Amino acid sequence: MSRILVISDIHGNLEALEAVLRDAEAVDQAWCLGDIAGYGPQPNECIARVKGLPELTCMLGNHDYAAISGISLDTFNSDARKALLRQREMLSEESKAFLGERMDKPVERGEVTLVHGSPRDTIWEYIINSIVARENLDHFWTRWCMVGHTHYQAIFQYHDKNDSITLEIPPLNSPYKMVERAILNPGSVGQPRDHDPRAAYAIYDSGENTWEPHRVEYDIHKVQKLIHKNGLPPRHADRLAEGW
Ligand code: ZN
Repeated sequence: MSRILVISDIHGNLEALEAVLRDAEAVDQAWCLGDIAGYGPQPNECIARVKGLPELTCMLGNHDYAAISGISLDTFNSDARKALLRQREMLSEESKAFLGERMDKPVERGEVTLVHGSPRDTIWEYIINSIVARENLDHFWTRWCMVGHTHYQAIFQYHDKNDSITLEIPPLNSPYKMVERAILNPGSVGQPRDHDPRAAYAIYDSGENTWEPHRVEYDIHKVQKLIHKNGLPPRHADRLAEGW
């Protein structure tokens, strides 16, 4: 049995990451579902911190990929594009090497498949509703799949008796019993978009088969100041305070 920290979409927000690690306390393993870089002011520091987590499995996110590759940034909105151009300048060679080694194919860990976007399209697809979730059930072969990318803390729960999927937002700090197949999202550490600005993460207990979502406050003002100081788009500072 293992107590596993599940985090995603840190986006260079070290304050949020440190708050999550303090709140989570000791874990046996850490699963990071990608996007350590993009948007925020401290991608190198976040990468160094994630690297040191116990028994780490870490996926490649779309922002990570865009920051280390020469791909066109045309599909990103203008502020995301500006932030990514800055990330390309900010990232150290060591950080780029780490991101370059991340997995861009689904990874299985016991009864769970890990991806950034979706099992069908690991880097780019957003699982935003139960229709997309339903289609993706045919693309992984474990009981559960854990995804990030949307920055929404949620569970897409499959129900065998009527072959349907429901969107569940289980209560915080209380273990959700994982019985049937499901796609689970821990939310975003560094840039939540569900109008709750607190950093999001989850604890998966692989012995009990439970999923416990958490939120934790951090010093948003400090991060906003660093965003301005580093010449990143001011909009990305504003949004942190409101969680969008
Ligand atoms: Zn992201």
